[in-house]
Amino acid sequence: MSVFADEAFDDHERVVFCSDKNTGLHAIIAIHSTALGPAAGGCRLWNYATDDEALHDVLRLSQGMSYKNAMAGLNFGGGKAVIIKTSDFQDSDALYEAFGDFVEQQNGRYVTAEDVGMSVSTMETIARRTKHVSGLPRKGDNAGGDPSPKTAFGIFKGIEAAVQFKLNAATVAGLTVAVQGVGHVGYNLSKFLSEAGAKLLVADIDQDKVQRVCDEFGATAVDLNEILIQEADVVAPCALGAILTEESIAKLQTTIVAGGANNQLKTHADGQRITDAGVLYAPDYVINAGGIINVSSEYYGDCTNEEVMGQVAAIGPRLTGIFEEAAATGKPTSEIADTQARNLIAAANP
Ligand code: NAD
Repeated sequence: MSVFADEAFDDHERVVFCSDKNTGLHAIIAIHSTALGPAAGGCRLWNYATDDEALHDVLRLSQGMSYKNAMAGLNFGGGKAVIIKTSDFQDSDALYEAFGDFVEQQNGRYVTAEDVGMSVSTMETIARRTKHVSGLPRKGDNAGGDPSPKTAFGIFKGIEAAVQFKLNAATVAGLTVAVQGVGHVGYNLSKFLSEAGAKLLVADIDQDKVQRVCDEFGATAVDLNEILIQEADVVAPCALGAILTEESIAKLQTTIVAGGANNQLKTHADGQRITDAGVLYAPDYVINAGGIINVSSEYYGDCTNEEVMGQVAAIGPRLTGIFEEAAATGKPTSEIADTQARNLIAAANP
């Protein structure tokens, strides 16, 4: 394993390998940039096939957080953590407390929160050992708690912006949206979409979650392997990343991909491929910033919940600006967003 030779290494400021023999904790914290503030980004609990895979994931996810936080206008740099679910992994409060100790040792350079596999109650356990944690239960009128409903609201506003731009549709009413993954984000997104009159196609590896959205929102279940290639107005990937590949892009039957999963494009070249295929792609870290906007407000205690909703709604116009620049220059939306994000970080860190 080499950190510096990994293709996702992007001059990360710090990569911390965390091991606690009492609890079996194996984790990696990657701090990509603190140019705009403490490196903030969730902690993912995942069953990685190898340590190299975990390292690669945390390197690219933390870079994505720098871009996401910069584009959302937050006083946060970018970081991320992964806890590796080994074959003998034992979920325990002590393990999350040990992780909290490692977060605390970063002296505020890294702020953690929920990501895949983590919950508000896990954050409460981590908070026993560090104050550099967000996504804790809401207090009064302040923002806080599970960030995924805010993430979903931002995606919903982004989908509205995309259908206005690409389909000239005023709303999603009557349009069909295929949602891949109906966990925290996908479930809440399905709720917003169904309330706005969209028709839903859904798939998830967990059939109970599929059943719930079918029962609650009248969604139609679709085969797991076919959700991305549905003839839908919008495809919304809300499971895991790297699902937009040379192969999958060639099979798309939609003209809009706009969803919450991080790192949807497998490679940079896939940004060009999806553009060449005539599909409008909403850059993932721009459309899914609602949760981190909520996390920022909770961490700094600087906004009410209502003000946070206003900031999250601004994701729609931000995306429209990217779509317009992409159309005017002929460049992929992913490249427009990357350039804007890098410029914002460079301006703070000359
Ligand atoms: P989650 O674990 O609650 O939900 C993910 C869902 O995807 C699960 O229900 C899982 O069963 C399903 N899934 C996994 N593999 C699948 C596959 N191959 N096909 C279909 N379904 C599959 O996680 P989440 O919090 O909803 O996050 C979803 C995505 O959004 C992740 O990529 C995450 O990084 C990203 N994201 C989440 C937030 C947030 O606020 N939670 C913020 C920004 C980005």
